[in-house]
Amino acid sequence: MHVDFIIIGQGICGTFLSWELQKAGYSFLVIDNNRPGTASKVAAGIINPVTGRRIVKTWMIDEVMPFAWHQYTEIGSQLQVNAIEQKDIIDFFPTPQMKLAYEKRYAEDTQYISINNDPAAWSNYFNADFGFGTISPCYLVNLHELLPAYRQLLKTGNNLLEENFDLSQLQILADTVHYKGITAQRIIFCDGITSFNNPWFANLPFAPNKGEVLLVEAKDMPTDHIFKKGINWVPWQDNIFWVGSSYEWDFTSDHPTEQFREKTLAILKQWVKAPVRVLEHTAAVRPATIERRPFIGFHPTQPAIGIFNGMGTKGCSLAPFFAPQLVQHLQHQSPLQPEADIQRFKRVLSK
Ligand SMILES: Cc1cc2nc3c(=O)[nH]c(=O)nc-3n(C[C@H](O)[C@H](O)[C@H](O)COP(=O)(O)OP(=O)(O)OC[C@H]3O[C@@H](n4cnc5c(N)ncnc54)[C@H](O)[C@@H]3O)c2cc1C
Repeated sequence: MHVDFIIIGQGICGTFLSWELQKAGYSFLVIDNNRPGTASKVAAGIINPVTGRRIVKTWMIDEVMPFAWHQYTEIGSQLQVNAIEQKDIIDFFPTPQMKLAYEKRYAEDTQYISINNDPAAWSNYFNADFGFGTISPCYLVNLHELLPAYRQLLKTGNNLLEENFDLSQLQILADTVHYKGITAQRIIFCDGITSFNNPWFANLPFAPNKGEVLLVEAKDMPTDHIFKKGINWVPWQDNIFWVGSSYEWDFTSDHPTEQFREKTLAILKQWVKAPVRVLEHTAAVRPATIERRPFIGFHPTQPAIGIFNGMGTKGCSLAPFFAPQLVQHLQHQSPLQPEADIQRFKRVLSK
């Protein structure tokens, strides 16, 4: 079998990259082991234009956000999935200090945030001791329908090999790669945290970050917004909410912990008025990077090997944005965004 590209992984990165390759007329094969508990399967799917305790604008968000909307609408219509919707965030201030920080930020820039003056607005559902603001627009990506629907499309088109990719079987020649009887011009790794141990890319400054999540049932809660008070309360399915997540740099296991469950339930008890029942508790490791910028491009000494990874906490917005950029780079040698291009690590990668 010969294809233009082998793609390893069908998380949000492998999904958008293979979709863009197909639109550009390339042939490809995606190899994915369908492992549960990967970042894209555990993620909420939130695209939030502001971030952190100082509520600053997310990197490149003015460009990325409208682009992501367009991409999800297009892929959703092809797959007949409602892939994205606007769900603004009601941001309850967890402390008086956070209220002050929010007000200070609002005085500087009102593009994505507003302050709400009606303290009773959500009082049937939530306790709001220090008031709240609204972040708008925010989007919610329907990952839990989009990814399986795209996988089915890959299967139907004979573009998916559902197995564990075994790096020891990969042969790299000057301008082709071979893997178990498959020949391709290039191979691109979209394999999330597996890339941390890939001999070609292990020198990149990855910074694994663990997140834990509860899926809970609560009756008659509003579903037209995402609610936040340190943690996010995200409408998921009928009477089911995604609650999370933690953000841990230091962890000894990638499994869910009793500590997170207890801490989160204690927050919910104070904050959410409806009774809450835990249905599921999951965890995944984010393929994050030390300087919080993606890793995109081709190996400086082995140009047949590429990577599309390092999306950290922002895979839902960055993957659809950078996938067409990488394909244009392949087609027309157009430059990649310098902060994302792995050429910035040329020296360490060439060792
Ligand atoms: C708790 C949590 C909440 C999050 N919430 C959000 C959010 O709201 N918004 C947002 O934008 N981002 C969020 N993120 C971050 C987001 O999930 C990641 O940025 C994104 O999913 C990374 O996608 P990926 O395709 O690079 O990796 P992955 O999703 O890990 O995909 C890699 C794929 O490769 C496959 N694979 C790996 N190794 C092999 C192998 N050897 N052989 C075959 N297949 C292999 C895996 O099975 C997987 O399918 C969250 C992450 C976590 C953990």
